[in-house]
Amino acid sequence: MSTLVWMQTGACSGDTMSLLTADGPSLENLTGSGDIEVLWHPSLTDGTTGYFGRLVENIENGSQQLDILCVEGSLITGPYGTGMFDSYRHRPKIDIVRSLAERARYVIAVGTCSAFGGIPAAPPNPTDCTGLQYDRETAGGLLGDEWRSSSGLPVINLAGCPTHPLTITRTLAIVARGLPLDLDFLNRPKAFYGSMVHQGCTRNEYHEYDIEDNQLGGRGCMYFNLGCQGPNTLANCNSELWNNRSSKTRAGVPCFGCTSPNFPKDGDLFKTEKLGAIPVSLPLGVSRSHYMAYKNLAKAAAPQRVKDREMEP
Ligand code: SF4
Repeated sequence: MSTLVWMQTGACSGDTMSLLTADGPSLENLTGSGDIEVLWHPSLTDGTTGYFGRLVENIENGSQQLDILCVEGSLITGPYGTGMFDSYRHRPKIDIVRSLAERARYVIAVGTCSAFGGIPAAPPNPTDCTGLQYDRETAGGLLGDEWRSSSGLPVINLAGCPTHPLTITRTLAIVARGLPLDLDFLNRPKAFYGSMVHQGCTRNEYHEYDIEDNQLGGRGCMYFNLGCQGPNTLANCNSELWNNRSSKTRAGVPCFGCTSPNFPKDGDLFKTEKLGAIPVSLPLGVSRSHYMAYKNLAKAAAPQRVKDREMEP
């Protein structure tokens, strides 16, 4: 059985809410099967006052083994590097995180805030927030680029705002059983960050034929005007539906690129920045010249049923 401590730092609890909706496996499946013992979760543990402090003490003095440390939330280093904007009993939480990370077999950043800094670290970042091993797109963060846990892995980045529920529990199942975990160029598990949000989006046919929406609530593609970042964002939102039912784009909301280190982008999330008529950020791997040629041809070739927006998104 692997022991788990879940710490919240500069967090909104969104990843905890997501964790509680996971059903394949659920957290109860993981604890009931004996894979995981939750030593601490701020919303779930029924401990007396001071329980968390005593647990940290026991992990630090070696009398309690720690296998998995999950951190939810941005790491608050202000004011002036002290971390005292976010403390537990006068000890900066960044100090507790550093200490527990040294003792854990695996360290998991749950959510874009702990992976890359997220919303709290966006400019002007008044509380000096950072991620565990990244500061937005720059490697480093709280623990430093070279840091590795005792398993030999860097911080496992489960990016997302919030992280997809199944990405959390499936990663926990994998590390609890000591199974291999392949990470991508941003230390995210390839199994869950290996395809685009665009793949599996039900608006793909509209995208192909350049049938664009100008207002929310339509059936067309939201890439050209409404800021959708699906073709640039690695995440499983449209291949593993949320609550087995939906996703942002299925509900008519553009993808905000929340699994990327530069999330949130500096600007209007519902507006596509363009150079002339062409979006500034093209689908990953597509050249500007090819895109311009393709766009005009595609629009001309659009079948009437797509032009008439007969297809349900
Ligand atoms: S709405 Fe977004 S994810 Fe869907 S097809 Fe258009 S660009 Fe792709």
